[in-house]
Amino acid sequence: MKKIIHIDMDAFFASVEQRDNPELKGKPIVVGGSSERGVVAAASYEARKFGVRSAMSSFKAKQICPQLIFVKHRFDVYKKVSSQIMEIFKSYTDLVEPLSLDEAYLDVTENNFGMKSATLIAQEIRAKIFEKTQLTASAGISFNKFLAKVASDLNKPNGYAVITPAQADQFIDDLEIDKFYGIGKKTSEKLRKEGIFFGKDIKKIELYKLEKKFGKLGVHLYHIVRGNDQGEVKPNRIRKSIGCETTLNQNVIENQKVIELSNQLAIELENRLKTKNIKGKTLTVKLKFEDFEQITRSNTVNFFFGKQNEIKEIAKVLLMEEFPLPKPIRLIGLQISNLNTEPENQKFEGQLKIPYPNF
Ligand SMILES: [Mg+2]
Repeated sequence: MKKIIHIDMDAFFASVEQRDNPELKGKPIVVGGSSERGVVAAASYEARKFGVRSAMSSFKAKQICPQLIFVKHRFDVYKKVSSQIMEIFKSYTDLVEPLSLDEAYLDVTENNFGMKSATLIAQEIRAKIFEKTQLTASAGISFNKFLAKVASDLNKPNGYAVITPAQADQFIDDLEIDKFYGIGKKTSEKLRKEGIFFGKDIKKIELYKLEKKFGKLGVHLYHIVRGNDQGEVKPNRIRKSIGCETTLNQNVIENQKVIELSNQLAIELENRLKTKNIKGKTLTVKLKFEDFEQITRSNTVNFFFGKQNEIKEIAKVLLMEEFPLPKPIRLIGLQISNLNTEPENQKFEGQLKIPYPNF
């Protein structure tokens, strides 16, 4: 039986701002653009009382909470706090899987202090976080990731909850489907239409039916409602890049042909990015010549891109600088990095969550 902790900072960006500016304490604030087209990146608990949420348009937020204070993000500070808390996690176990800047799974089954109680570890960690950062965190403790994640939300803010193996069955039975991590708005609507409101309702459905209706997610749900989440805590789960390449049947040197090959790859890359809901800021073109010499050329832009036309355009600019090619190529590749799924890129992405598992 594993011991898994999920730790999640409370209203992270907003709490950091309130910590550093006493005038903001106790007030409804959001971090994020105040402009008409801005989006709320994080809301303080005082703002949440009015219904203000992450990823809400700033316009709407202001409507439902006229006294709302907009604070500009200070991403460097959040990153610094993030590395402070990650350091605390890593002092207990190497098996730390960050989900974003302010939350992570920890597998403490084996830990550096030989501690038996995961609850005690979670309490120590929360105390250390507060001591080091003057910020509060909430913790969920259970025997798998899914339950730990759900548990950390139960007594938020500044609380913790334990779901033991003996409690798990009842807990999942009574769990509302929109509290399930991995079930988004659309899926939860779909489930409701089918008369599925709680974990126990999912339990009644046969595996093949769940799979037919919901694909991979359905299979995942089938297992988690039985307390059977086999997901490992993976320390390096965060994807750094995504790309595709093609080895040519015949070597190519003509500019136009190289551009065409690059355009084809752009289409493939767009599809791969779409299914994973990923965008990036950096494009790298790789060319391998007939003598196996290889060059890479990169360009970083100040927005997240992922559409084929954007990829084609950026790749073309990079390729043009290499034309005419000194010798024929035998391989061409495109890769996107600096992804929006990396914690350091989440500044404007609000509640962007890394899909769990990778649906
Ligand atoms: Mg959080």
